[in-house]
Amino acid sequence: MKLPIKKYPDPVLRAKTQPVVFPLSAEIQKLTKDMIDTVRSADGIGLAAPQVGKSVKLVIINLEKSGIPIFALYNPRVVSKGFKKIELEEGCLSIPGVYGYVRRPKKVTIKAENHLGETVQITDEGWVARVAQHEIDHINGVLITDLIKKYTKGEELVKK
Ligand SMILES: [Zn+2]
Repeated sequence: MKLPIKKYPDPVLRAKTQPVVFPLSAEIQKLTKDMIDTVRSADGIGLAAPQVGKSVKLVIINLEKSGIPIFALYNPRVVSKGFKKIELEEGCLSIPGVYGYVRRPKKVTIKAENHLGETVQITDEGWVARVAQHEIDHINGVLITDLIKKYTKGEELVKK
């Protein structure tokens, strides 16, 4: 079931999130499925639970168009960052029409739990690293408007 996406400046995007506990509740299992439907339907590459109004540490990474099966990460955190940073244009489903350059570490190692509660570790320096950092920011209440140094589109929509 597709869920409505919360839009900036909805305070839920800044709210503190709770860790997911295991075994997964029926509610979290349903939320995971619904977030997968929502991100696919919005043609997004990632979605974090606060973006559908739920203050829990759950993100979906949707790089199906790059040949990577869609997956969920519970309680994801960046555990190490490479020295090299790169600047890429980013947008956000919660801040439609706004784009700008965000500087982030190219390579990161992420730890999270899978649906069984097993710890998984991902080291990446491609799209997974990029999208995961954006989504982990969401569960920590950080938005691209906090990070953009130079807007490419829509600055007037977020700057008063
Ligand atoms: Zn976003």
